[in-house]
Amino acid sequence: MEIKRNVLLNPGPATTTDTVKMAQVVPDICPREKEFASLMKGLRNDLLKVVHADPAEYTTVLFCGSGTINMDICLNSLLPAGKKILVLNNGAYSTRAVEICEGYGLPHINLQFPVDEPVDLNAAEKALQEDPDIALVYTTHNETGTGVLNPVREIGALAHRYGAVFVADTTSTLAMRPIDVAKDNIDFCMSSAQKGLMAMAGLSFIIGKTDIIKASGDYPRRSYYCNLYLQYEYFEKTGEMHFTPPMQTVYALLQALKEYFAEGEEAKWARHTRVFEAIHAGIEKLGFRDIIRREWQAGLVVSVKYPDDPNWDFTKVHDYCYERGFTIYPGKISTTDTFRLCALGTIDVEDIEAFFRVFEEALKHCNISIPAKYND
Ligand SMILES: *Cc1c(COP(=O)(O)O)cnc(C)c1O
Repeated sequence: MEIKRNVLLNPGPATTTDTVKMAQVVPDICPREKEFASLMKGLRNDLLKVVHADPAEYTTVLFCGSGTINMDICLNSLLPAGKKILVLNNGAYSTRAVEICEGYGLPHINLQFPVDEPVDLNAAEKALQEDPDIALVYTTHNETGTGVLNPVREIGALAHRYGAVFVADTTSTLAMRPIDVAKDNIDFCMSSAQKGLMAMAGLSFIIGKTDIIKASGDYPRRSYYCNLYLQYEYFEKTGEMHFTPPMQTVYALLQALKEYFAEGEEAKWARHTRVFEAIHAGIEKLGFRDIIRREWQAGLVVSVKYPDDPNWDFTKVHDYCYERGFTIYPGKISTTDTFRLCALGTIDVEDIEAFFRVFEEALKHCNISIPAKYND
């Protein structure tokens, strides 16, 4: 079968290999068969390896849902009664975490920082000093809305110094930017199959400390379907997800993991880095500006400022590129109009070069000036 190859420059789902796509086409199977349960066991172990987690200390708990389900589960399941969550918030994804806290009525502090800067450790420490009820510190590793990298290792150390559990939303870094959960002081991290692992949407997973999950069995049960302890307990008892897993998505992820280990952590990160640099080179050549200081970027998302050109029309440019197999994506900052070009997926420098040939054509087609015009 010929499958058209699209280059997705949006922040996930990512471009996948044909072998991962085809891995979904399997004979029908009931997920309660032993054969399927044994696949789940291997999958949980392989996911630990991706973040160098010691299986004696950490475990993987899988869920059926997009990446946001992980955020929901960690926040609602890991807060003891009478305690508080500190959200270190410098962008759209941490704001989503705050909205989840609001949804459940969880006591929380929304500590906000400018969206174009990393979280400030001094301010985080001050909040921890002032409020001994904080039992859980939450932040986003790569704020995918802007591409800002947060210093998770330092935040984790800080959380631990004040006796709090540290949850890092690593959805848009895991299996791309190398993570070592123990060295990075991460108690809980998460991702979804469609991001760094370059598989399909619908399967998400949390990797976290087993003893903390066990302790959370006594915490208030705020959700039935989205409870970390209940799902963990079911996995331990049966080796399976409590409710119907997305079977075909599991097969795709198993294939994607094979390809991940074959490519290798370092080589894969090097590839994403050269893609990221090619994106920067492309926008610079056309005179576009990115809005985040380069040293603060996580190396996966480039946030490009809209030019001050009366003919600039994101939708038109997007549609021109889309029709030719390239997807670009709007930004997620309320104060500045931006679009994003991301380095996820099974793409390499030649895909970015091909994209910029099409993007330049799109600009000409729309009479947008090259180099891009900015008023200041
Ligand atoms: C993609 C992403 C999520 C999850 O988004 P879904 O659309 O629910 O898959 C969560 N956090 C971050 C940082 C992300 O990049």
